[in-house]
Amino acid sequence: MQTFYIETFGCQMNAHDSEKVIGTLLSQGYTQVAKPDQADLVLYNTCSIRDKAEQKVFHRLDEFKRSGQGKVFGVLGCVAQQEGERIFERAPHVSLVAGSASYARLPEMLVQLESGNRRVTGLSLHNDQAFDTPFTKRDNPHRAYITIIEGCDKSCAYCVVPFTRGPERSRTSASVLNEARELARMGYIEIQLLGQNVNSYRDPSPAALDFARLLRAVGQVDGIQRVRFTTSHPRDFVKDIIDAIDENPALCNHVHLPVQSGSSNVLARMQRLYTRDEYMRRIEWMKNARRDISITTDIIVGFPGETETDFEQTLELLDQVEYDSLFSFKYSRRPNTAALDLEDQIGEQEKSRRLAILQEKQRAIQVRRNSDLIGKLEEAFVEGYNHATGQWIGRTTQNRTLNFVHPHFPAPREGASLAGTSWNVRVTRAGPNSLAGEVVV
Ligand code: SAM
Ligand code: SF4
Repeated sequence: MQTFYIETFGCQMNAHDSEKVIGTLLSQGYTQVAKPDQADLVLYNTCSIRDKAEQKVFHRLDEFKRSGQGKVFGVLGCVAQQEGERIFERAPHVSLVAGSASYARLPEMLVQLESGNRRVTGLSLHNDQAFDTPFTKRDNPHRAYITIIEGCDKSCAYCVVPFTRGPERSRTSASVLNEARELARMGYIEIQLLGQNVNSYRDPSPAALDFARLLRAVGQVDGIQRVRFTTSHPRDFVKDIIDAIDENPALCNHVHLPVQSGSSNVLARMQRLYTRDEYMRRIEWMKNARRDISITTDIIVGFPGETETDFEQTLELLDQVEYDSLFSFKYSRRPNTAALDLEDQIGEQEKSRRLAILQEKQRAIQVRRNSDLIGKLEEAFVEGYNHATGQWIGRTTQNRTLNFVHPHFPAPREGASLAGTSWNVRVTRAGPNSLAGEVVV
């Protein structure tokens, strides 16, 4: 085996895990290829947060049931951890099944595959350390992810993550800060701290930093101009995080704080560990901050037993908070979870109806909030160029997409690009999902 192909599904944690897996494979002498047809080893890094996500990998594997001879197939990530050796039965051409808690063992598992073993597994969750590797092959030359905490110690009634990613393991603050300094030396300007519950971070070293203190320290690394973090759990969200953002403009004024439901009854049945009022207290901290903090969230509609009144409370919460954006999902029944056997499952049609109403309301809020920015100046970090529209693709500190034209640099030329630079942009147009503007020179 010399060449590998990898496809990644799901969240940013998975995207970053894949960067580490790729780095590990390259360090072992493998070469990455762009298409599965060209590869000796085909890997899928999978997501099982909802049923639809889980089915995707089996569709992919089915495509190769007959044509995959001579290749080695591996399933990594959450579906691997959840389904374990059952994957070998369902897709007999798969040779490797490994969850994220076992990635530190990848080199050893590769040796087993190379020696012809066709049933290699890494499924233990008994791992008290985060996967820390010097071999990360980062995808983006300007923005880098750093996972600071893996796993989850909560037990939300709908969620597979505690079963697929295991218990929480935080990295030491020294290892996080060393990585941040190294990234700055390499020319990265933006860092995104990652964790299923990033703010549940607890430094295992004697320095014993909590999340807000670690955030401050990363924000002070020379050369790093923007620091983001995701995802925050409301229960562990303390005001000191807002104070840190207020103190240092390098810390982006954007907080993703998933609420899931606006009804305290539903939150209790979801085992979310906070009430609507407690959640709203955190929102008030943000609204009262010195900086204008952008707030985004996740919402699940149709959790078992969600009444029309519960759902209306969620709609009313949207009006009250005025989120800048949200991810919304129909509840999906997941194996092993507490909600699996709850009565009062909501029908698919009703879930779709609620989702459409919620999304329509949020769209109107976003149109209104984005329109309020017309005429304002925003600092945009350039991520790329859109040849179809002739605009540079920028991102504001509040995490809005701000596409813009530059009078002296209308397009990339001779390998030169504005990617990785920042510009003051006057907002001239606003849609529900992005802004457009002109550079002020
Ligand atoms: N740890 C984060 C938190 O507690 O807010 C969320 C991490 S989870 C990977 C991302 C989102 O997926 C959740 O916020 C939730 O909205 C959604 N999700 C998780 N399980 C789900 C399920 N069974 N059905 C629908 N959406 C789900
Ligand atoms: Fe899942 Fe809840 Fe853990 Fe978030 S806090 S990863 S939703 S169990």
